[in-house]
Amino acid sequence: MAIGIKKLQANLERIRQQCAEAALRVRRDPANVTIVAVTKSAEMEDILHLLELGVTDLGESRVQQFSERAEEVASLMAERKAAGPIRWHMIGHLQRNKVKAVLEHASLVHSVDSLRLAEEISLRSEQMGRTSDVLLEVNCSREEQKFGVAVGAATHMVEQICTLKGVRLIGLMTMAARSDNPEQARVTFVRLREIFEEMRTERIGGKNLRHLSMGMSQDFVPAIEEGATLVRIGTSLFT
Ligand SMILES: *Cc1c(COP(=O)(O)O)cnc(C)c1O
Repeated sequence: MAIGIKKLQANLERIRQQCAEAALRVRRDPANVTIVAVTKSAEMEDILHLLELGVTDLGESRVQQFSERAEEVASLMAERKAAGPIRWHMIGHLQRNKVKAVLEHASLVHSVDSLRLAEEISLRSEQMGRTSDVLLEVNCSREEQKFGVAVGAATHMVEQICTLKGVRLIGLMTMAARSDNPEQARVTFVRLREIFEEMRTERIGGKNLRHLSMGMSQDFVPAIEEGATLVRIGTSLFT
């Protein structure tokens, strides 16, 4: 059920406030944190309200729903003659045979977790006459996460992805294990930040490498304190 614009506005204001406070605590500019509204469990009505409230970045984790939602939102926005650029983020696992469909709408793919997937994105992007922004998903949690490259393989993978012409690697992404205690997730975020800083020190990945996508409803505060530039928030926005 749709929760309505009043509740959405209250949620959004609360989350923006928490993001800003987390950034300021560690002397970061709150402007460098973008909220990606994860719409996978949201009603279309609420998604449109959220866009009215000024949110520009939307995320989906499943290919089919990603395409459907992106197309539906685009046509509804066109009907309403609402301008405003929308940036769609693909945040879930992506198979190579789905790359083409996703690239039609994606501004950023967060979930690149193999060289073969990066190669496919590069090839398709070149065919489309563009360069696609991607993040490398790293498995930084001690728990068994299903996706993401191993920490020990990340540096080499970044170097390899950087040789591809059709993709621009702009950062790293990770997911913490679900836990009631956000401080438990911090360990995962610290690890991703350390890998990131090491790459920058050793000039691996180049100047484009500047984003950390980490933090969800339960743990976006410690994620921002540890350097997240993109937080992926669904539940606490839409309920
Ligand atoms: C669903 C999902 C999120 C958002 O999770 P919430 O707990 O609802 O905020 C973030 N990232 C990924 C990859 C997801 O699949």
